[in-house]
Amino acid sequence: MSETDEQTPTIRKAEAYHNEPHTDFSRAENRDAFQAALKDVEKQLGQEYPAVIDGKAVSSRKSIVSLNPSHKSQTVGTVTAATVDQAEHAIEVARRAFEQWRKIETTHRAEYLEIIAAEMRNRRFELAAWMVYECAKPWTEADGDVAEAIDFCTYYAQQMRLLDVPVQCDYPGEENTYFYQPRGVAVVIAPWNFPLAILTGMTVAALVTGNTVIMKPAEQSSIIAAKLFEMIRDAGVPDGVVSYLPGFGEEIGPALVQSPDVDLIAFTGSREVGLAINQQAADAPPAQTHVKKVIAEMGGKNAIIVDEDADLDEAVQGVVGSAFGFAGQKCSACSRVIVLKPAYDAFLERLKRATQSLKFGPAEEPGTTVGPVIDEEAFERINDFIAIGQDECTPVVEINAGKLSEEGYFIGPHVFADVDPESRLAQNEIFGPVVTVMRARDLDEAFEIANTTDYALTGGMYSRSPKNLARARSEFRVGNLYLNRPITGALVQRHPFGGYKMSGIGSKAGGHDYLLQFLIPIAVSENTLRRGFAPPPDDEK
Ligand code: NAD
Repeated sequence: MSETDEQTPTIRKAEAYHNEPHTDFSRAENRDAFQAALKDVEKQLGQEYPAVIDGKAVSSRKSIVSLNPSHKSQTVGTVTAATVDQAEHAIEVARRAFEQWRKIETTHRAEYLEIIAAEMRNRRFELAAWMVYECAKPWTEADGDVAEAIDFCTYYAQQMRLLDVPVQCDYPGEENTYFYQPRGVAVVIAPWNFPLAILTGMTVAALVTGNTVIMKPAEQSSIIAAKLFEMIRDAGVPDGVVSYLPGFGEEIGPALVQSPDVDLIAFTGSREVGLAINQQAADAPPAQTHVKKVIAEMGGKNAIIVDEDADLDEAVQGVVGSAFGFAGQKCSACSRVIVLKPAYDAFLERLKRATQSLKFGPAEEPGTTVGPVIDEEAFERINDFIAIGQDECTPVVEINAGKLSEEGYFIGPHVFADVDPESRLAQNEIFGPVVTVMRARDLDEAFEIANTTDYALTGGMYSRSPKNLARARSEFRVGNLYLNRPITGALVQRHPFGGYKMSGIGSKAGGHDYLLQFLIPIAVSENTLRRGFAPPPDDEK
């Protein structure tokens, strides 16, 4: 090692951490266990779930009926739609609970997360089965969702233990300490597409850092959220520290976001709602004595570049998996493919055949890779985009849902070629099984197309040229860049996840600085050159 190496290390290694393994469905016993969980959960469909504030079940006159997207006549369950009054009550309760919760030792708070993770492991297939019914997640996707939720618990527990060690920077006669305090009351507003993982991640991050939480799940995944709340409560987290507040976002959302008693909002969802929240949270009503912290993870319009020398077998597989897994309903999904001219025709032909071979059907069927979309509203929005594609571009694959569409919200995979990079289809987040393919003259043009959207979430490139891959590292403007591999399936710690531009504000979920957003750093400096100490009063001797 040279002298310079000793002074400035060039690599910072991440601490040891083991991700929860995904289930191996090639093993018969796992397939049987999953089928059994599906049967078992099916018997529990149709129940009612109240909101829970301060440990007490509360209901209202309105409710949200959660339907199975694969079989829209099947009710997964009914949840209370909380009112604005109930939202305000939940904030009051969280404010009170904060005074005790913030004093709990970090290591104990971390243990709660580990207990929740252990319970998720015990109930792994059951939780995944709920996601198959409520959000039409195919088996492997639902299983990955539970694994990620477990990872968020164990990783944030580990990270908080590290952050709990104060940084000391003393000088002769001066003691300097740097440490963290929680912010206060956190409102967690989650999307439906990673119904367990994202809600768990934001909630446990707030909890382990010492904040109290109002957990507001997406309307479409409120039952899975009720299961998460059950596990938090069973782990022994005191009443009031977390409230389960299902409800309509546009009704209770503004009351939660604008409350002067809320310190932090952790949001994941669409750009439209994220920007509105950011704006509302910036206003400080007269009763508010602090500036709110907003974490907002939003959408994407992600591209994969296929270089002229790319291995097309790998590129096609990577594009198909990234574009159509969970019917393209991932913020990380590939929705634009930019192919260098010499490879364009061959790539398109192979993409067509690979897309046609996908198994499209109800999520509970084991081989399904493309299930239905989440609900009626999404079904209509995606079909409107497909109509635009039929009008403006060259349809290459259009898989018709046929009879399936009578049963659920099914939209078959669609591929459109010769798409204008500036068109509506190429610029808007569609959030469904629709992929656009564009031709680029050279790599300069490919990067230009890739970077010409408002978003910067994920991106990928398939290439055999080290020089071109190096260019991607510096020129492809995305938060998560994937080279010669699919662009979805982020793993906690290994691929901390999150974007910038209109894709989000905040540090990456599952990354080593994520928890800092939930904390306030404090620096204390004490002059220790005192001349004698005041003696303690008699009653303290
Ligand atoms: P959405 O914005 O419609 O809803 C998200 C949450 O916001 C829900 O809980 C909803 O009830 C709530 N909400 C709605 N209106 C509100 C309001 N006025 N005030 C406060 N809360 C309100 O998003 P969605 O359809 O649930 O999720 C899909 C979107 O999420 C996509 O855009 C996707 O890209 C994005 N997403 C991003 C990430 C990421 O990490 N960047 C991850 C997953 C999903």
